Amino acid sequence: MTRDKKRKAAIRETQAHTGRRYTQAAREITAATEREPTGFLLSQLLTECATIAPADVDWGYDCDLAPEVFHSRLFGGAVPYGTVLELAGSLAQEGRSARLTLESMSPLEVAVVVCGKRRFQLILTQDMARELCQTPACPNDQPGWAFLHCSSHLPDCNGDALVSMTEEWAYGFKTDAGRDMERREGSAEADLLIKAATANGTYERASKALLDSLFAAPDELDDLFWSEEETLAMQHAIERERLRLHNVARSEARRLWKIFGACSTCGGRLNAYGWDPSVPPRFCSANCVPPASCPSQDSATTERLAEQRPAGRSAR
Ligand SMILES: [Zn+2]
Ligand SMILES: [Zn+2]
Repeated sequence: MTRDKKRKAAIRETQAHTGRRYTQAAREITAATEREPTGFLLSQLLTECATIAPADVDWGYDCDLAPEVFHSRLFGGAVPYGTVLELAGSLAQEGRSARLTLESMSPLEVAVVVCGKRRFQLILTQDMARELCQTPACPNDQPGWAFLHCSSHLPDCNGDALVSMTEEWAYGFKTDAGRDMERREGSAEADLLIKAATANGTYERASKALLDSLFAAPDELDDLFWSEEETLAMQHAIERERLRLHNVARSEARRLWKIFGACSTCGGRLNAYGWDPSVPPRFCSANCVPPASCPSQDSATTERLAEQRPAGRSAR
């Protein structure tokens, strides 16, 4: 059967099933075949969620524990209503016209959808959706609010991207911690950002951005409080955190030296001159850093993290 004959047969079948006129059925079939196979709008998914009746699914266990699902044509399988609503909540900023692409689908397990650079894992066995690392195909979560990549892909971001993530995270963290200076110190998220910045040679920028956003920039400090005691308490907190971050960064540089073993450019000793925060630890000195060695945020997939690259191999 030729393609055209197949199409006409499909139209007649739809016509017979639905009782619609031939031209109307033809229009619908054409629209369906021309639609991008894996792309759809959030509004289309919400329409399915609002209009399709619950489906019966054999979960293989007590279905009281299972979520209520519907059979989604867009996903080609059962999707919990609650999972779609969670996803819609996360995409509230993007709105109903947000375009989604299905990255992967394991029926009755999980699906991954992409919206712009954002990626979401939809848990098909629970009413749950969670945001994933923005590096394509990475299965890891984002380690916290404002983090666009998982901890192993953070060092692939360039300095600008790391600084902007650091600032966003720090402003949020500061608000949660309130006026208690000690609660702003020593967070695991700060460590992750600082380690990533150490790996790509942007520690000094990231550390300054972190301290300025988490506490206050040095020139704002005097006007911030009425009492000298409070100003002094913040000064002490800043200095303690500065020292702590420096130690985190130096330990990370030492760890990376051990992993790489030798300079990725010249094969020479990595720690011959001590730690220079502006030199990524996979190079022995600034002379060996190739001009475009700081990967952009978008190249996160091509430039793999330091710890995954075998020691001594050329980074190019
Ligand atoms: Zn990742
Ligand atoms: Zn070298």
